[in-house]
Amino acid sequence: PAAVSVRQLSQAIRQNPIEVIKQLMRNGLMANINEVIDYEAAAKIAADFGIEVRPQAIRSAASRRKKPEHEETKHLPLRPPVVTIMGHVDHGKTRLLDAIRQTHVMESEAGGITQHIGAYQVEVKGQKITFLDTPGHEAFTAMRARGARATDITVLVVAADDGIMPQTLEAIDHARAAGVPIIVAINKIDKPGANADRVKQQLADHGLVVEDWGGDTIAVGTSAKERLGIDDLLENILLVAEMEDLHADPTLPGTGVVIEAEMDKSRGAMATVLVQNGSLKVGDIVVVGETFGKVKAMFNDQGKHLRKAEPATPVVIMGLPVVPGVGDTLASVDSERQARQILSEKKAVKKPVSVSLASLHEQIASGKVK
Ligand code: GDP
Ligand code: MG
Repeated sequence: PAAVSVRQLSQAIRQNPIEVIKQLMRNGLMANINEVIDYEAAAKIAADFGIEVRPQAIRSAASRRKKPEHEETKHLPLRPPVVTIMGHVDHGKTRLLDAIRQTHVMESEAGGITQHIGAYQVEVKGQKITFLDTPGHEAFTAMRARGARATDITVLVVAADDGIMPQTLEAIDHARAAGVPIIVAINKIDKPGANADRVKQQLADHGLVVEDWGGDTIAVGTSAKERLGIDDLLENILLVAEMEDLHADPTLPGTGVVIEAEMDKSRGAMATVLVQNGSLKVGDIVVVGETFGKVKAMFNDQGKHLRKAEPATPVVIMGLPVVPGVGDTLASVDSERQARQILSEKKAVKKPVSVSLASLHEQIASGKVK
């Protein structure tokens, strides 16, 4: 039987959980925010708020919920979701990212160095969302090739006047292979030739059945140009994030992944790093890819200097001796000595293992090994 927690229901119907709990009480149900209630009760409460529940929306939200994480991580604080935008060229990825940034990025500090860092954070109703702004497909592929998973949610942009195109399908494949949930933004709904139903049909043909058609794929109509549907999209991202139960431990040493890197003539190697767990601090000694260095300075997407960066925060770090590769992992260590030791162990282990794994995959693919 379908069931949802009070928190999930509140998110699904976009009501303050306290109001939902009050309404439950009026209906003779005493429940706290984490309590699970059955579908009939959820639908009744939603109706009390004047909201007609699409059964699928609540059921699928509940079924998308991952199995409980390990007990030892459950008590940890939630972290913001990390979102990548993918889709066919010219369907509006860049413009959508700009529209989100313009409407929701906190004001830049006066005097801060504003510079494009390939990722930014927005705040929606007091909750943060991190967007990766890197060329979606390439970054995704580079990171997956290195075994890193930097994304929690994919927003698939499909232009309503153009429909599903080859790179749309490629994006769907990437997200599926990485096990990342997809939210569809049916973009350019302002255009005269826009046909959202055709897009929904095409999505269904590729196994993504939208909620209003009885499936569990969230689709939101947007116009990046007219800034329509942006809030709806962001709220759905938060809803899916809630289901994904994203925890991290800010008290640990910082670890993360490089999402962009370049050599700056005056400042040296600059790497945009997504902190994935723990906290990264200025002064930390970090192992990155095949090298190590010290974080001399760090700043966020607003150009603001940070001393500390918590999970899901994108930061630019300065102080590495060389430009690292996109997808390289980063880890803070205790000392230079430890950094050297880790790197020598990495070198010793890496080559033979990756070779044998690759050949094993080949053998499996060719049917030699089962
Ligand atoms: P990308 O290649 O996916 O990053 O696409 P862009 O964001 O560069 O957009 C491609 C073109 O479509 C640009 O000319 C945009 O101004 C335009 N565009 C993007 N979103 C919209 C939209 O919602 N409505 C309209 N009318 N045009 C849009
Ligand atoms: Mg673009």
